[in-house]
Amino acid sequence: MSSERIHNFGAGPAVLPEPVLRQAQKDIWNIAESGIGVMELSHRGKVFDRIRDEAEQACRDLAGIPDDYRVLFLQGGASLQFSMVPMNFLPRDRTADYLVTGVWSEKAVKEAKLFGAVHEAASGAASKFTRIPAANEIRYSPSPVYVHLTTNNTIYGTQWKTEPAVPSGVPLVADTSSDMFSRPIDVTSYGLIYAGAQKNLGPSGAVLVIIRDDLVDNGPKNLPTMLQYRTQAAEKSLYNTPNTLGIYLMGEVFKWIKAEGGLAGMAQRNAAKAKVLYDFLDESALFQAQVDRDSRSLMNVCFRTGSDELDAKFVSEATKAGLEGLKGHRSAGGMRASIYNACPPEAVRALVAFMQRFEAANRPAAAAAR
Ligand SMILES: *Cc1c(COP(=O)(O)O)cnc(C)c1O
Repeated sequence: MSSERIHNFGAGPAVLPEPVLRQAQKDIWNIAESGIGVMELSHRGKVFDRIRDEAEQACRDLAGIPDDYRVLFLQGGASLQFSMVPMNFLPRDRTADYLVTGVWSEKAVKEAKLFGAVHEAASGAASKFTRIPAANEIRYSPSPVYVHLTTNNTIYGTQWKTEPAVPSGVPLVADTSSDMFSRPIDVTSYGLIYAGAQKNLGPSGAVLVIIRDDLVDNGPKNLPTMLQYRTQAAEKSLYNTPNTLGIYLMGEVFKWIKAEGGLAGMAQRNAAKAKVLYDFLDESALFQAQVDRDSRSLMNVCFRTGSDELDAKFVSEATKAGLEGLKGHRSAGGMRASIYNACPPEAVRALVAFMQRFEAANRPAAAAAR
């Protein structure tokens, strides 16, 4: 790693792969010998056409996306998908089922309620979102139009290990913003998958949507044109001027993932990184992991010391030591290390080494505080 940069454990926008940033530096000046930088190219020209097509193809190759799914590059963040999904699929007189596992799921529910009825098929609120609901805790409504889940809970650090079973014929809709392409994904299990790019895929503002063909045309035609999936699918995400830089960067990130062994390679790399951190937490006399073992996220690792003062001291000293972004989300407290795809293994090793030093220096204080 370049000495100009520090270890960034921020939850998002998050660290991007070094080779992608280095290539982007060149392409922002002059891409493909066009004499024009990537941000300055027409979105209707040949060079950008190729960039968009390559990004889509690389995405399809990574996840083996079947031909009956569209790949869309949209704007408005994952948060606009909280609205677009119910706008397009949830009629006033119908019910959508939501699996509520954290703050982002709750925000998705809030938007859905603006359009139709919502049934919370499971909620982790009672256990403060420290675990993923077990299969026998899920109660679907009689005929939901879709089931929505958040695959990885960025704020609480929990993650679904497999897709939950859903009633037959009901599309599963997933917010995969914080674990997209961190492991293999069976696209055919889903009707729609969306991911804000800024955790695992690229810059903020860009969103990847993968939608099954039969759902594309489901929405009412009196929605704002930009907010209908059919518009975006028919125009290959080029109805208006898209986030051209975002699409370019996502394409480069997809190519990087491919070069690193694809989704299986990412899964291996991520499991190894997370293991270093969780193994340390399980041994530590000072730090504790925050969530149930079976629900632990490989992307966002939440932990605390048990003392708010020590937590604050840890975050402040870590920052001084070049370990940035470790403060937990304001609604969860404690600490959180976000170790997405692009977070290098050496960053995790540096964090654990720092935690060991901090523990040695602060153990007596910790014992007294308890
Ligand atoms: C970050 C995040 C969001 C919000 O994404 P925006 O692009 O800011 O709208 C939604 N869901 C999850 C799971 C996230 O991690």
